[in-house]
Parts: sequence; structure tokens; C-alpha cells
Amino acid sequence: MKAESDLQGPTRSGDELRKRWGLRGIVNASGRMSSLGAAIAHEEVVRAAAILTEAVEIDELQDLAGKTIAGMTGAEAGFVAASASAGISHGVAAAMTGGDLAAVESLPDVTGLRSEIVMPASHLVHYNAPISQAVRLTGATVQIVGQANRSTGYQLAAALGANTAGAIYVVSHYVRSGSAMDLDEFAKICHAANVPVIVDAAAEADLRIFIEAGADLVIYSAHKYFNGPTAGIVCGTRKLVDAAYLQNKGICRGMKIGKEGIAGTIAALRAWQTRDHRANFETERKRLEMWLKVVDGRPGVNARIIPNETNDFVERLEISFTGKTAVAVAQELASALAAGDPPVMIRGTRLSEGVLLLDPSNIHPGEELLIAERLAGELDRAGI
Ligand SMILES: *Cc1c(COP(=O)(O)O)cnc(C)c1O
Repeated sequence: MKAESDLQGPTRSGDELRKRWGLRGIVNASGRMSSLGAAIAHEEVVRAAAILTEAVEIDELQDLAGKTIAGMTGAEAGFVAASASAGISHGVAAAMTGGDLAAVESLPDVTGLRSEIVMPASHLVHYNAPISQAVRLTGATVQIVGQANRSTGYQLAAALGANTAGAIYVVSHYVRSGSAMDLDEFAKICHAANVPVIVDAAAEADLRIFIEAGADLVIYSAHKYFNGPTAGIVCGTRKLVDAAYLQNKGICRGMKIGKEGIAGTIAALRAWQTRDHRANFETERKRLEMWLKVVDGRPGVNARIIPNETNDFVERLEISFTGKTAVAVAQELASALAAGDPPVMIRGTRLSEGVLLLDPSNIHPGEELLIAERLAGELDRAGI
């Protein structure tokens, strides 16, 4: 297979479509936000959408996806769900019903089933929807362990009881580091009580470490780091994966993934194996350095390249403003960038601190220049 030196992205037929339909030609410097269409799909993913014109046996396609996922994660089995959030619902439902089809069809009625899902307090995140809702819509209830800034082994052990169906552990920049025990310890305590561990690793890219740390089910978003279609990658033990897949005949029918989503996820994972991640990192670093030069030395601004909170091969440019008006300045700049031509969407997760973040990972080659020009123009205009 041909080694790729960089993520060149797909052919830009999507850009033509945007123009024809009169959609704004936004440049996305915010990363893989769902509200901005998540990841730019890898060109192999676009090619895999060719499956749309054909009939295909979904179980066979899912079986192929499962083999691909298992091979890359080291897990026994896998399948593709509609999203990571859907994957969480599949997993929680599976922890309650196992392979009992009558129970699958009865959810969200949990009469006679173990139905508590244990979660560290600090893991109750909001990813533009509350994770607790993805749990509760199956009929399960959330049993909170510990407090916002601290949950420990003895608290977890005490929370596991006769009604516990499973436990969820979230790996995310949303979770304050050190606010809960390590996954290894979490899994060990759960397993001693025969409780399966489900890991939400939606925005992570390491396909192996969470299975290695003892997770029974791990869920990733295909449309975040893997440049796939909108989908959830689910992997884990054969028993739990089979039970999670069975939920397609029940509560998860309304979260159905189509053939193009399954085929696209297979293509994204295959491409992931041959992509040159080091070269990609270097390309992104150069973009960040270009933007840093635009900002550096301007009065009232501090800028630096920072690693992502949970995986340090992802870097962003942090631009912070000083003084009493910092928050207003940051917000006005973000609005101006989003309103201009071309509209540049920055990462606004820290606007309330007076901080703009620029993400270099989800743009087309050449767009880094547009971002640099727009940024310089708006800073000049604001007299910064
Ligand atoms: C993005 C995200 C989700 C939701 O993922 P989708 O695939 O968009 O449903 C869940 N959990 C975390 C931690 C996330 O970052």
C-alpha cells in the first residue's frame, strides 16, 4: 500500500457542493466539532461511500468492521454504532440485558434487571449533551461515586452492589486531571465485584491503551481523530460486544448506522494504519508556528503552543489577552473572524477566560494561510 506523507484530505467535491447550495465556505480552526461537521473525512472514506449504490448484507459488513476493529485494538470483537454517544447507550443496555432478547425488547423497562451504572462524579461530562442522558435513556440509573474533584477506590468499592450493572469511565479533556482514580485501579475494583467497565474515549486516538488497562468495552468517535464518517467505534469482549450489537433490535434502533457509515469507518481505520502520523504532526506544528508569528509581539497578547490535555500529539495555539477587557476582546475577535470572508471558526471552549484556541488539525492544505491573513487583519483592525 502507498504510504501517505500527509493528510491531503479528499477531493474537494464537497466545496463545490457548498457553493452550489449557497452554504458558507467556513474554514474550521476549531478542531472536530460536531456542530461544524466534525472531521474532514479521509479520501478513502469518501471512496467507501460508493457502497451507497449497492445492496449489502449489514451483518456481513459489520462483521468485517468488527474484524478490523478487533485487529487494531487488541479487543476480542467490535462493531460500528451511529456515534460514540450511541455506543454508550448500546454498552449500558448490554450491561443490563446481556444476550436476553426479551430483555432487549423490554428496555427502558428494567424490571428484574440490574440497572445501576456507576460513574465518578467528575466524569459526568457534557459533550453538547449530558453523558448521563445517554445512560438514562436505556432505563438505567446513574450511581455517582465520590465528589467533583475526587473519587477514590474505597468510594467505588462501596458503590458497587447487587443492583450494579456496569461502570463508566470517561477519558477526556473535559475531565479535570487527577479528579478520579486511574483506569487500571478503577477496572480492578470493578472486576473484583464482577462489574464490566465501559470507557468513553470518544475524542481519543490510542486504540489500544484502554483495552490494555482492563476496559471491557471502549468507545471512540470515528469522526474525531480517525477522519471517518459520523460513527462510533465500539470494541471489547465478545460477550459484551455481541450484547451491545443486539440492542439494534431494541432501544438502539433509533440510532441506526447506515451502510455508508460502517464502510466509511472501515476505510478510515485502514487508512489510519498507513498514514504518516509523524509527518502530519510536523505539518500541524508548522501551521501553529505560522499563526504564532502573526500574534507574537503584539501588546496585550500572549500566545504559545500547548498540547491537548489527554493526548500530547495534538497541539493548539493558545492566544490569551491581558487586562480587564480580555474576555470582551476575545469574544469580539472570535465573532469578527466568524463573520468575515472567509469565515474562520476558532475553538471557543475557553472564551470565558479571554482565550482563543486555534486548532491546526482539521483544515485543508493552504487554509493555514487564509487563517493567518484573517487573524492578522482582525488584530490590526482591533488595534492590537
Ligand atoms: C465527542 C464526545 C462524545 C460524543 O461523541 P459523538 O460520537 O459525537 O456522539 C462523548 N464523549 C466525549 C468525551 C466526547 O468528547
